[in-house]
Amino acid sequence: MFEKDSKYIFQTFARQPIAIARGRGTFVWDSEGRKYLDFVSGISVNIVGHCNPAVVSAIRKQSERFIHTSNLYYSEPQMELAEKLCRLARLDKVFFCNSGTEAVEAALKLAAKVTGKKEFIAMEGSFHGRTIGSLSVTHEEKFRIPFQHVLMKDVKFVRYNDADALRGAVSKDTAAVLIEPIQGESGVRIPSDGYLRSVREICDENGVLLILDEVQTAFGRTGRWFCKEYSGITPDIMTLAKALGGGLPLGAMLAREGIAKSFTKGDHGSTFGGNPLACSAGLAMIGVVKKENLVGRSRQLGDYFVRKLGNINSSQIKEVRGRGLMVGIELNIKGDKVVDAMREKGVLINCTAGNVLRFLPPLIIKKEHVDRVTAMLETVLEK
Ligand code: PLP
Repeated sequence: MFEKDSKYIFQTFARQPIAIARGRGTFVWDSEGRKYLDFVSGISVNIVGHCNPAVVSAIRKQSERFIHTSNLYYSEPQMELAEKLCRLARLDKVFFCNSGTEAVEAALKLAAKVTGKKEFIAMEGSFHGRTIGSLSVTHEEKFRIPFQHVLMKDVKFVRYNDADALRGAVSKDTAAVLIEPIQGESGVRIPSDGYLRSVREICDENGVLLILDEVQTAFGRTGRWFCKEYSGITPDIMTLAKALGGGLPLGAMLAREGIAKSFTKGDHGSTFGGNPLACSAGLAMIGVVKKENLVGRSRQLGDYFVRKLGNINSSQIKEVRGRGLMVGIELNIKGDKVVDAMREKGVLINCTAGNVLRFLPPLIIKKEHVDRVTAMLETVLEK
């Protein structure tokens, strides 16, 4: 089976050597029938667990009505989801697309149109996607360097969690500042209290837009519906994807009314964006998060998980950090062997930035799952 992958598929992913055959709740099974506790959730996507009955039922029902119409026509699931998102996020308008990178592209275009300016400021350690615009504002050089010659030129990177660095970088040409409320891909980096409020103030003082990238952090992942709630700020533009479609591909850019109205007919578009199937699944996902109070559960279990990990006595651990069920352990060693050892023992985790173990379980996990993963990790690190 793996030979077909290397023969027919672009080799752009470093894949784990298993093929997932089915999933249910917090578990997946591979093609050999081995069972795994899933602490990756398809990279923060399956927050209500695999094949959640409410999501499956919504997809089934919608697929029997109509699957696709394009954006040439109105569609009820899209309008319903847009209303829910605006209310939850306290923003006014939604543009639907299919992924995180597309949401960021939309945000860059909107900011450029609203301000008429060309410069963007992003953060060191940022990750916003891999298409040309979002790659231009992604900091990691190994992603950017091969494409440097076609990337946007007017991008400045400043130190994350350093308000003075941002203040010094803003200029009369700056259209927007782009920021993740917690940096996910560069290793679950949590800024200090008050930093995002300072970023908001700097943007306001200079007439610069603030784009908040909540692609990885939204829908309870960090113990609030949106991570922005910890700082009390409202961005001008916000990007969403990952968990948004209940497992189906869906992205969104949200904005305040005064900014959104700058995009007029033809300024942006997408054939699939806001697909009825994905929007129905997204509505079901939000329903489950509300009904089962998964936001509060994420906060409580996340605190417990970080405390338990903090009690592991290992010289390999440099730091444990997390907010809600977005948890990272920075190691003194590379993380890939730990990921392999955990997988062999039946637990899926992820390693990012080379040495940070990242845990993004579905928000429906139980305390006993946290205990199992912590105990197993302790054994693996001992070895
Ligand atoms: N923005 C953030 C903060 C992300 O974490 C990611 C993906 O990891 C993206 C954007 C890109 O999302 P996608 O892979 O759906 O294009």
